[in-house]
Amino acid sequence: MNKQSIYGLTFDQLAASLAEHGHKKSRALQVWDGLYRKRVTDFAAMTEVKQDCLNTLEAHFVTETLTEHLKQESADGTIKFLFKLHDGNLIETVLMRHKYGLSVCVTTQVGCNIGCSFCASGLLAKSRDLTSAEIVEQIMKVQFHLDKKGENEHVSHIVVMGIGEPFDNFKNMVDFIRVVKDQKGLDIAARHITVSTSGLADKIIEFADSDLKVNLAISLHAPTNELRTRIMKINKAIPIEKLMKAIEYYLDKTNRRITLEYILLKDVNDGKEHALQLAELIQHIRQLANVNLIPYNPVDEHSQYQRSERESVRAFYDTLKKQGISCSVRLEHGTDIDAACGQLRSKQIKQSSGDNLGQGQVVVG
Ligand code: SAH
Ligand code: SF4
Repeated sequence: MNKQSIYGLTFDQLAASLAEHGHKKSRALQVWDGLYRKRVTDFAAMTEVKQDCLNTLEAHFVTETLTEHLKQESADGTIKFLFKLHDGNLIETVLMRHKYGLSVCVTTQVGCNIGCSFCASGLLAKSRDLTSAEIVEQIMKVQFHLDKKGENEHVSHIVVMGIGEPFDNFKNMVDFIRVVKDQKGLDIAARHITVSTSGLADKIIEFADSDLKVNLAISLHAPTNELRTRIMKINKAIPIEKLMKAIEYYLDKTNRRITLEYILLKDVNDGKEHALQLAELIQHIRQLANVNLIPYNPVDEHSQYQRSERESVRAFYDTLKKQGISCSVRLEHGTDIDAACGQLRSKQIKQSSGDNLGQGQVVVG
């Protein structure tokens, strides 16, 4: 029988599974405490848990399914982990240090089918979704790394902005969020968790209707359909009008603020006219929206795109501000170690398989 990774279960699912084997709910609490508070990976080290329950755990579950393939540390303290999944696929996870805490950027899919024209992840078609366990385990592996250093540091924030489109792996992403925000375990506050989507409108609505209360960021990147379709082909199927309707529904339903991400690409979408068009597009939601201007991280295969000049970023920012739009410029982390979405993975895969991009499953050893 195949054993299941225990990190994939929410607390209620774990309690139900243990109950099926005749164990009380209090056992689930002890196991949960062992996994997420004491952070032991060997069930036998859960000393409070009775032997018959330990036997059930050993028989049905495992803890470790990811192995560390590579780790790069940047001068600014950013650490990029490349993990190998049980099937040999590689994924990336990034730990970033901020004034307000430690955030981790997680991957949700092996590759991405959305295929945005500027993104390294989109170079590799999706070969599969990650399980909720594989997403949770990324956080655990980073936390184990911090635990080992012995400085009592904890992952305090999560951004779901690694490889993949989280709303194309909705259920597993939701289970992941339920596990990490559980107050009996890692207890990462919902307001410290942000999910970014390329704009799958139906899922934005489903997300608004959920009880998750985490933050939402939308990869907007262009103010008109013509330009957005040019850089994000998903806009053909889900044009700006449909996306805006979903955003309005989300704002109405949750009353939470939303982040609109906008990558600045030199001479493509970074002109004053684009800033004015953007301001007009979002004028009616400006009370609840913050535009996050993102400096582009150049990707070798997408040489048609360059990072905007500093003056253009300034001018874009000033124009938005003048129109009453709240905005910020994203601070960069780990640019010396390919920390942008999918870059390290795509480089590793190229190195190990020639230029054979588009292969989802790669065994690198
Ligand atoms: N698929 C989701 C989440 C992962 S991408 C999405 O697209 O929103 C997270 C963010 O990184 C997105 O805003 C994406 O547009 C941005 N991004 C992708 N490649 C980038 C690059 N080379 N430089 C800067 N930002 C990039
Ligand atoms: Fe996929 Fe997001 Fe990259 Fe677009 S930007 S290809 S949606 S990971």
